[in-house]
Amino acid sequence: MAFTFQARRIRKSFGGVEVLHGVDLDASAGEVLALLGENGAGKSTLVKIMAGDYQADSGRLIVDGETHSVLTPRQARALGVAIISQEFQDALPLTVAENISLGSLPSRGGMVRWRTVRRRAVDILDELEVEIDPGAVVGSLRVGERQLVEIARALSSSARLLILDEPTAALSHHEAEVLFEFIRRLRSQGVAVVYITHRLDEVGLIADKVHVLRDGETALLADVAETGRRDMIEAMIGRKSEELGRPPPIGRDLGAEPALRWTDAGASGRFEGVSLKVMPGEVVAVYGKLGSGAMELAETAFGIRPLDSGRLELDQADIVYSDPAGAVKNGVGYLPADRKAGGALMVRSVAENTAIASWPVLAKFFGQWLTARVENKAYRRWHDRLSIRSRNDPRQIMRTLSGGNQQKVLISRWLERRSRVLVMVEPTRGVDVGARRDIYEALRELAEEGIAVLVVTSDYEEAVQVADRCLVVAKGRPVEKLTGEDITMSRLLEASGG
Ligand code: ADP
Ligand code: MG
Repeated sequence: MAFTFQARRIRKSFGGVEVLHGVDLDASAGEVLALLGENGAGKSTLVKIMAGDYQADSGRLIVDGETHSVLTPRQARALGVAIISQEFQDALPLTVAENISLGSLPSRGGMVRWRTVRRRAVDILDELEVEIDPGAVVGSLRVGERQLVEIARALSSSARLLILDEPTAALSHHEAEVLFEFIRRLRSQGVAVVYITHRLDEVGLIADKVHVLRDGETALLADVAETGRRDMIEAMIGRKSEELGRPPPIGRDLGAEPALRWTDAGASGRFEGVSLKVMPGEVVAVYGKLGSGAMELAETAFGIRPLDSGRLELDQADIVYSDPAGAVKNGVGYLPADRKAGGALMVRSVAENTAIASWPVLAKFFGQWLTARVENKAYRRWHDRLSIRSRNDPRQIMRTLSGGNQQKVLISRWLERRSRVLVMVEPTRGVDVGARRDIYEALRELAEEGIAVLVVTSDYEEAVQVADRCLVVAKGRPVEKLTGEDITMSRLLEASGG
């Protein structure tokens, strides 16, 4: 009978929180199963249990008809399970060849047969069509190359079940193609494959069946041939899009002319062909994954990065500034993704953090009388408006606030400065749910007062919750513009390529 690996009713908790709620999974000889799910769905935990790296709290693993309540890594290997984890398991000081034979060094009479080690490595690297020197020390390789060495090791062990946990994340396009070719060959040789990915386009290329996990439960199990991209996305996110809630439609008048406008803009290979405007009174989101060019687009608005094609206008005039100081003078406020690197004075008071961008303005009025009292007043003005949760002491040190409240203080800085345009990159990264809601509310209110707000985010839930309009960018190019109720998680995921 052909090889099967069945996981049944698998439960697993970490620190009292259950992350797998009795999951079943089937892997069969000659079949590639794509395992999908959002971050945190439980994919890695499940396959680690199958490979013996973690132990389930309850449930069974039935390998070729034989039932085990738990497996050790050694037992799993002996049963033919090979796993390529997200975390690398390679030994950096050893050579490529040694790594490939790690855990199964060929020996005779107590002597390691180094020549066999080397030949085995040469053979498998050849078969994988990768040009990596078997004698190179693994620590000197690129991440993608290390990934391939991991794959070579798993393949050299003549596995009956091969598990790959997001293997293409670090691979080039060509390397991924070679890997797929290899997986197809293994499938035809009767190996069972479980393939975890977040790239939906890979599913159609490589998989026979698709299994979607959502919050530790199976949300979809189907043949790939009968499953559309939409089905997979819907299964991954469930009804969350509706639960998240959209902001109310704009009931206010937008300004007549855009506050910010990019026209066919491009910058040093990071993005190109982007046209986007932000009107006074609206919140516009640019959604794109890391490396999509979204962040670089934001940087051009603050004079951090020059355009090398197209135009960027502020209030219908080409921008004249080429540094952040100039941007501030022209009424642009900017919140970078990294609070610490980007302007939060961690060991100074919250009041100073609020007032710093306004010092030139305040000094004009108060001259040498610009004192702590003036700063304190500035801070108090915003403390309630933004629901900053602190000790209500303007002299409290910034560092002692939570991330979300630090972020609110930084927003208050630009409000105090009377910025007419706010550019915010990942405004709620690392911020807890409560503070997140406050920040979204604050941004909406600011828009209602006529400020033009641009939110750049790699978090699609953020785009859904805050934006009136949304531009999706992928690989440096605009791919979709969505408005109002059309800004849903599935539309965003679909547009950005899964
Ligand atoms: P996925 O691979 O689908 O992104 P994981 O299996 O890595 O999801 O994680 C599922 C949940 O279990 C997450 O909430 C994660 O934080 C938690 N988790 C995973 N591994 C551990 C661990 N070693 N200790 C504590 N929590 C963990
Ligand atoms: Mg994972």
